Amino acid sequence: MKYVSTRDSGVSVTASQAIVQGISNEGGLFVPESIPVLSKSQIAGMTGMDYINRAKAILSLYLDDFTEQELEACVRGAYGSSFSDPAIAPLSRLGMGNYLLELWHGPTCAFKDMALQLLPHLLTVSMSKAAPDKEVVILVATSGDTGKAALEGFKDVPGTRILVFYPVDGVSPMQKRQMTTQEGGNVGVVAIAGNFDDAQTGVKKIFTDEAVQKRLAERGMLLSSANSINWGRLVPQIVYYFSAYAQMLEAEEIRMRELVNIVVPTGNFGNILAAYFACEMGLPVKRFLCASNQNNVLTDFINTGIYDRNRAFHNTITPSMDILISSNLERLLYLLSDRDSREVGRLMEGLSKEGRYAVSDTVKEKMQARFSGGCLDDGATKGVIREVFEAYGYLCDPHTAVAVGVHRDYVRKTGDGTKAIIASTASPYKFAGSVLSALTGENGSGDEFLMASELSRLTGVQIPGQLAGLSHKPERFTRVCAPGMMEKAVMEELMI
Ligand SMILES: *Cc1c(COP(=O)(O)O)cnc(C)c1O
Repeated sequence: MKYVSTRDSGVSVTASQAIVQGISNEGGLFVPESIPVLSKSQIAGMTGMDYINRAKAILSLYLDDFTEQELEACVRGAYGSSFSDPAIAPLSRLGMGNYLLELWHGPTCAFKDMALQLLPHLLTVSMSKAAPDKEVVILVATSGDTGKAALEGFKDVPGTRILVFYPVDGVSPMQKRQMTTQEGGNVGVVAIAGNFDDAQTGVKKIFTDEAVQKRLAERGMLLSSANSINWGRLVPQIVYYFSAYAQMLEAEEIRMRELVNIVVPTGNFGNILAAYFACEMGLPVKRFLCASNQNNVLTDFINTGIYDRNRAFHNTITPSMDILISSNLERLLYLLSDRDSREVGRLMEGLSKEGRYAVSDTVKEKMQARFSGGCLDDGATKGVIREVFEAYGYLCDPHTAVAVGVHRDYVRKTGDGTKAIIASTASPYKFAGSVLSALTGENGSGDEFLMASELSRLTGVQIPGQLAGLSHKPERFTRVCAPGMMEKAVMEELMI
C-alpha cells in the first residue's frame, strides 16, 4: 500500500517512508491511497482475540512493508507488558448503553500511550528499511500528554533522540512534573513561553526548513515527528475502536452489525479521526461526536463549515484539548473532498494566512451527515465529574468528562439512544486538582501530590503507581525558551 500527501496526490511513499518522514515535504499529511475494508466475519472474528492479535490484524493491512515477524515483535514490544490492564483498553459500563473505553492504562496514564508505546518500534523498523544507519531526531510539540508518552516510548531507544516542547503555563502540574523528571540518555525537554499552537507551529516550521534538514543530514541525523501528524501515531489508534466493538459483542451488549455512536474528547482531531478510519474500514458507526472544551473551534466548524481560529485562546482544566489548530482535520478534509489535494492545499493556505477557511457545501453536508460537535466550559465539566461520581461511583478525568457531557447534551437534544463508546483519555490523577475541586467545590490549587492523596482518600480510587512515585524524583529539565528561539534550542540540545 502506498501513502499520498493531502496536499500533493503526486507524492507516493511506502508505509515505512511515511513513518520515518512524519510529514510530507510540502507540508501535507500522509494518507493511505485507499482504505482497506474488513468483512463482517473479520470484524466478528476479533471476538475471542487478545489485544495483540487485534492490533496485528489491523496494522498488517496498513503496514504492508513490514514482515509478519517484524509486526509481531513491534506489537508485543508495545502491549506485551507495559499496560496495567490485561485488556489493554478495557470498557467500563456507565449506565444504560454507554461504555467508557479506558485508554489510559499505559505507563503515563493517558491515551497517548496506546500509540506511543508502539511508535518507537514501528519507527525503528521503518528506519532500518527507509533510512538505514541514520539517527532519527524526534521533535514533539505537546499540550501535556503526548510529550510524556513520547519520552517514555523513546527513552534509550538506540538510534533515536527525542526533544519535547511544551507550553510553560499550559500543562497540569502533574504533566509538567512527569516531563521535567524524565529519565533517559537521549531525551530533552524545553518549555515554550507561549501556548500549544505556538509550540506546534514552531515544530512544523523546523520540519519544513531545508537549512535545518541539511545541517542535520550532514551529521547523519533525520527529523521525524511523534505528533499525530505522523501516520505511525494514528494507525495504532484505529485498533482500539475495533477492540471496543469486539468487547461489546463478547459481552452481548450489542449484536453484530449493530450501529454505535463514538464520542471523543478532541484536540488535534487524531483520536476521532482514527475512529472515522475504523468506520471506513467497516466498523458499524452511526455518528461521531466531537467533544470540545471552551476552545470550541471544532464545534463551530462542524455546525457552520467555517473553520476560524481568530478567537481568544483559553487555558482550561482540559489542557490536552487547548488547541485552535487541529492538525488532523486536514486528513478528514482530504477524504471528504474525494481526495482533492489542491482543494486541501487551498484551505490550509487560508488557515495559515488568514487563520480561517470555509469548506464547500458538499464537504459540509458530508461532514454533518456523520459528525456532531459539542462543547463544555470548565464549570460544566466539573459538574459532569461530580454527577458521574455521584451516580456511578466512577471517577473520570476532565477530558473524559467533556465527552460524557457532550454526549449527555446530544442525547437530550436528539433522543438518539444508540449505544455509545465514549473515549476515556486520561487517569483522573493526572488532573487531581481539577477533579478534587469538582467534587469538593474548593478551588483546586496547592500541592498536586497532596491533592491526589486527598482525592484518593475521598473516593477510594487508587493513585496509579507511576504518578505517585513522581514526587520523589529530581527535576532534570528547567529550560524555558521564546517561541521564536525553538530552532536554536534544537541545535543546542543536539549540540550542533
Ligand atoms: C491528546 C488528548 C486528547 C485529544 O486527543 P486528540 O487526538 O488530539 O484529538 C484528549 N484527552 C487527553 C487526555 C489527551 O491527552
